[in-house]
Amino acid sequence: MHNRKNQEALRMAKKTPYDMAVEQLEKCAKIMDLDPNALEILRYPNRVLSVYIPVRMDNGKVKVFNGYRSQHNNALGPYKGGIRYHPDVTIEEVMALSMWMTWKCSVAGIPLGGGKGGIVCNPKEMSVGEIERLSRGYFAAISRIVGDKEDIPAPDVNTSGREMAWFMDEYSRYSGYNVPGVVTGKPLDIGGSEGRTEATGRGLWVTVCEAAKKSGISLKNATAAVQGFGNVGLYSALFLSSSGAKIVAVSDSKGGIYNKDGLNVKAVADFKAKTGSVVNFPGAKSITNEELLETKCDILIPAALENQINASNADKIDAKLVAEGANGPISPDADEILFQKGIMVIPDILANAGGVSTSYFEWVQNLQNYYWTLEEVRTRLDALMVKAFNNVYEKASKNKIDMRMGAYVCAVDRVVKAMKLRGWI
Ligand code: GLU
Repeated sequence: MHNRKNQEALRMAKKTPYDMAVEQLEKCAKIMDLDPNALEILRYPNRVLSVYIPVRMDNGKVKVFNGYRSQHNNALGPYKGGIRYHPDVTIEEVMALSMWMTWKCSVAGIPLGGGKGGIVCNPKEMSVGEIERLSRGYFAAISRIVGDKEDIPAPDVNTSGREMAWFMDEYSRYSGYNVPGVVTGKPLDIGGSEGRTEATGRGLWVTVCEAAKKSGISLKNATAAVQGFGNVGLYSALFLSSSGAKIVAVSDSKGGIYNKDGLNVKAVADFKAKTGSVVNFPGAKSITNEELLETKCDILIPAALENQINASNADKIDAKLVAEGANGPISPDADEILFQKGIMVIPDILANAGGVSTSYFEWVQNLQNYYWTLEEVRTRLDALMVKAFNNVYEKASKNKIDMRMGAYVCAVDRVVKAMKLRGWI
């Protein structure tokens, strides 16, 4: 039994995120009896660009970095999706992430397609000057295929408003005038939107509130564990605690912390800002990232990287509800196991769609050069997330499928309709 499980884990480990994404798409195609011509198109990204970026490092030497931009599908509107800086970035990962963006924009009901970019680098070991030169070099290299009507990048793992400001500046230099709508997630002073920074966490919280209502969980005093303490993990934890939930465990790439009485999220964030990690936070017990995922809790939020819950640990998940803050944290085999255990999963393309939805609002504001208040942004985002959740929930319950497949059927259906109307099929 043990051996079989290990073998399975090994097989999984060899699968790329792109294999995972295609597997999910094929599963959905079966459920909805999808036109094979549509499946053939959707299986592949429309375009993937690979670039090599020479950067003058602080020691005077030139180092070349590899980066990608994948544009999966633009039937519904311009390509949209973040850019990540991480040593483990691969072309297959970026391709998968761009496909997930197509579905995410479609589930959210916004007129955008799917794209994603990444640079293979470790920004934690680079100076700010090196990161700026790399960012500008990357944007220069992909400038021919991005634009406020073509492909609009945004923050992702290890990137934030700082990098978006450099991207916007670099692109505006070539254009000869300001093009704020070429990227979203910018700082407020140069065309960013109110509420964009908190948006992914807020959207996730809205979906958890809806799911809790359906499954009879009261958020007041519910326990939650959050893997990953970047932008998504932090804001998800803050919003959940605002509803009275107890955040019993959080983690980052260096390890995790646990306190059965609940952690003060704001204090943990201040501690991480000072020391670089949540590890050693006073009054909490140290745990590993694996232990965090297996923590007994009501709500589990994987908000780190892909393939964290797979065939090797899915049967040890001890939560009532899992909301995917990250993209692709649960493998298709693990989906089956969680479904059989009766654990509701709010899939990434729904749970973390608040980020791209508020990016959409930012882009609309940029194009109109007219800006909204925080209240307006929040009201529109909350309404969009509630609607998207209920569409997916209905689709899943009606067809007796899990929430991921419910979301896929809604998403693929809308994209295929657009492709048919445009005469692609
Ligand atoms: N990187 C985020 C995501 O995976 C946001 C994308 C965007 O705002 O375009 O959804």
